[in-house]
Amino acid sequence: MSVTQQQVLDSLARIKSPRGVALTNANVLSAISASDGKVFFSINVDAAEARAWESVRAEAEAVVRAIPGVTTAMVALTAERKPGAAPPPPAPSRGTPGVQPVHAHKPPQGGQSPMARQSEIPGVAAVIAVASGKGGVGKSTTALNLALGLRDLGLKVGLLDADIYGPSVPRLTGLRDKPALNDERKMIPLRRFGLAIMSIGFLVEEETAMIWRGPMVMSAVTQMLRDVEWGSLDVLVVDMPPGTGDAQLTLAQNVPLKGAVIVSTPQDLSLIDARRGLAMFKKVNVPVLGIVENMSYFQCPHCGTKSDIFGHGGARHEAEKLGVPFLGEIPLHMAIRATSDAGNPVVDSEPDGPHAAIYRAIAGQVRDQLKGVIAAA
Ligand code: ADP
Repeated sequence: MSVTQQQVLDSLARIKSPRGVALTNANVLSAISASDGKVFFSINVDAAEARAWESVRAEAEAVVRAIPGVTTAMVALTAERKPGAAPPPPAPSRGTPGVQPVHAHKPPQGGQSPMARQSEIPGVAAVIAVASGKGGVGKSTTALNLALGLRDLGLKVGLLDADIYGPSVPRLTGLRDKPALNDERKMIPLRRFGLAIMSIGFLVEEETAMIWRGPMVMSAVTQMLRDVEWGSLDVLVVDMPPGTGDAQLTLAQNVPLKGAVIVSTPQDLSLIDARRGLAMFKKVNVPVLGIVENMSYFQCPHCGTKSDIFGHGGARHEAEKLGVPFLGEIPLHMAIRATSDAGNPVVDSEPDGPHAAIYRAIAGQVRDQLKGVIAAA
């Protein structure tokens, strides 16, 4: 059963907006894309009103999802700056550049998919995501060491910590400074280990980050992608928020990703989550560059003996079954935990050690898959 734009509008007409009129009369809707049961559109409001509209966004998504024949409904809340308006001032709390609303994006034109909203980031050849189905599997550790592995291959690399629910890049890199602004009021990423680094953790207190809702996550991440002077990069590695919910899907859809790396531990549960991650990237046409099995086996720091405490090998089988590359196995090792948590990632602090070699081998496979994109840029 195909769903029409009129059916969507009829459902939305029942929703009252914070402006007191029906949502369809509030002059905030983008063109509606409705094809094959998939409905996408955005609600474009002034940045100052964004919070008041979050419940309307959720309601709009729910009523559209309830229309018979709708399989996917995605409603994005975009908070636009008024043309010509001065950019909002820095966040007063810590005197740092605060998270500001999304840039005015052109709403999608009739029938266009939201993917068409993605535009490349000037100067950045390839943006890739590092994702996991759940938290605590070592996604951030892998993202940083992968970025360093790519650096060791001679590439210019940036790292964006988009894990808004628990930004760990400040801890993993030892960076705590607040980014400065350039003349165009763009944030200048911090530099360490030869990487350009940006984290939501540099801008807001951790507790603030925890309570952000989906659309706010998107606004913050969009800003960190586009309002940052990334300079010229071969690869920008994005440490995604864990999970495969709406926030992650919107993110995967709005960031111009050239590929995704999925991190999983060998345990079944986390593999189920990893499978969800695969499905999510497939849905938004982002190629999965491969799966990394983290904490693959336990390696004793004293005698070097290997023990498969989590049933090692699950991710490799899963990757084979799903037809995506298996990028490598990283052991559960004291050195990885200790260096990560001390802000000295193992690829940088023990470059000649066995762990750095594993990360570099994974980076090599990622680089090979991106070669065309990087060369073209
Ligand atoms: P996530 O981003 O998935 O939440 P983190 O990268 O923050 O996970 O890692 C969670 C914890 O596990 C950290 O203390 C980190 O140092 C540790 N860790 C991650 N990978 C490994 C590993 N291969 N060996 C030992 N400890 C690890």
